[in-house]
Amino acid sequence: MAGDKFPQRPGQPDCVGYLKTAYCPLKKKCKYHHPKNITPSECYVNAVGLPLRPGQPICPHYSRFGLCQSVLACKFDHSSTNASSSGSK
Ligand SMILES: [Zn+2]
Ligand SMILES: [Zn+2]
Repeated sequence: MAGDKFPQRPGQPDCVGYLKTAYCPLKKKCKYHHPKNITPSECYVNAVGLPLRPGQPICPHYSRFGLCQSVLACKFDHSSTNASSSGSK
């Protein structure tokens, strides 16, 4: 699995939207630089690296399976849930 969905363009300005969210909707079509391993300034992540977005609905995948394939691109909230406390295990 290649992790470089976003183009590396050293010498070009950094993609502003990407710096904020670690996501760029243009992906490889974007002409700006997308540094790897950035820390998004407008989004915090939980213990497994999924974005916390207070005010957004809980991610349906995350609430169900405890994971999310969209990772930082996902627009839903991924707050920690203690679903196991309900004794469903
Ligand atoms: Zn971009
Ligand atoms: Zn999600």
